[in-house]
Amino acid sequence: MKIAIVREQAEGERRVAATPETVKKFKALGADVAIEAGAGLTASIADADYAAAGATVADRAATVGGADILLGVQGPSPDSLIGAKPGAWIVAGLNPFGDRARVDAYAAAGYEALAMEFMPRITRAQSMDILSSQSNLSGYKAVLDAAAEYGRAFPMMMTAAGTVSAAKVFVMGVGVAGLQAIATAKRLGAQVSATDVRAATREQIESLGAKAIFVEKVAGIEGEGSGGYATEMSEDYKAAQAELVSGHIAKQDIVITTALIPGRPAPRLISDAQIATMKPGSVIVDLAVEQGGNVEGAVAGEVAERHGVKIVGHRNVPSRLAADTSALFARNLYNFLSAFWDKERNAPVLDEEIGNAIRLTQGGKVVNERLLG
Ligand code: NAD
Repeated sequence: MKIAIVREQAEGERRVAATPETVKKFKALGADVAIEAGAGLTASIADADYAAAGATVADRAATVGGADILLGVQGPSPDSLIGAKPGAWIVAGLNPFGDRARVDAYAAAGYEALAMEFMPRITRAQSMDILSSQSNLSGYKAVLDAAAEYGRAFPMMMTAAGTVSAAKVFVMGVGVAGLQAIATAKRLGAQVSATDVRAATREQIESLGAKAIFVEKVAGIEGEGSGGYATEMSEDYKAAQAELVSGHIAKQDIVITTALIPGRPAPRLISDAQIATMKPGSVIVDLAVEQGGNVEGAVAGEVAERHGVKIVGHRNVPSRLAADTSALFARNLYNFLSAFWDKERNAPVLDEEIGNAIRLTQGGKVVNERLLG
């Protein structure tokens, strides 16, 4: 059994899908591990550390040659995998809705592509969940990015020269990233409020010491669909939410938006007219910018400015903390493969529940029902 890790190819991707720690653990399971030279450099991991952990460090062709399983943060290009075993697994974040052409190419090349972001949100798969591990650090980094763009302090400070007032931070979308954003902004001393469409988040917001801002008395308010994800809301709800948010946003210094609906463009939460009501110097961070954006005027990869308000739209926020996010991502991959490791076959064997959820391609075809449906 050969596990291979090629250097990430996507522009701006600094993470890596294995660390010396996970290499050692895969070796202990009985697998051989090969890694392309330089794969860990942008995540502060030297080739020598992989070699010391037992990996073979080689060029891409030698790394991929004869591989049974290819690990990636993002999906490697099919061309870069020539030489892997027929039917080899590709285990990575594969962006199945956003990059369907690549999924089709994996099928045509006969690979079995397993999309880690389709991991079901069930208790036993929590340690395999790349969305959670990466969103958690994105929520943290969003607050730091906001603080860096903001020309004022976060905490209230009483100085001999007078008092500096605390920043008001509003978090929209309280999933994994939003909860971490609330906690981080609190730690920095801000006055924090937050909102979501899922009623269950109210208690979570309050337990972090933040104020919950919620639309009341509108039909269809539950907002929770399958797997704990949000659903698309009714027009009545959207109108009530816009009104509530308008009043609140005008008083905020920092807004962090994280709202996503799986398989759909991100919901639009803030309009240009609402931005115009904010104080100059305020900062908005749109973590959903690559999925279409929660904020009108947000531009992926840029810090835009509207009405004196900065709109931060960094791409690939987890990659901005590549050492830590790589470590967590690599553990997610190890936790996944080791949970299904069959000692006799010296290979992982998936069960139906998880296999059917994450398998995109098999036997030359696209097989995942979320892509076929
Ligand atoms: P996500 O990234 O899909 O979305 C972020 C947040 O945006 C969600 O809380 C969502 O409700 C919210 N949102 C969507 N539309 C909105 C709108 N119009 N206005 C305001 N907010 C809006 O979410 P996530 O971080 O992946 O978490 C989704 C759920 O999954 C949560 O309930 C989380 O606790 C749960 N979860 C479960 C597990 C597990 O059991 N293994 C692991 C991680 C997360």
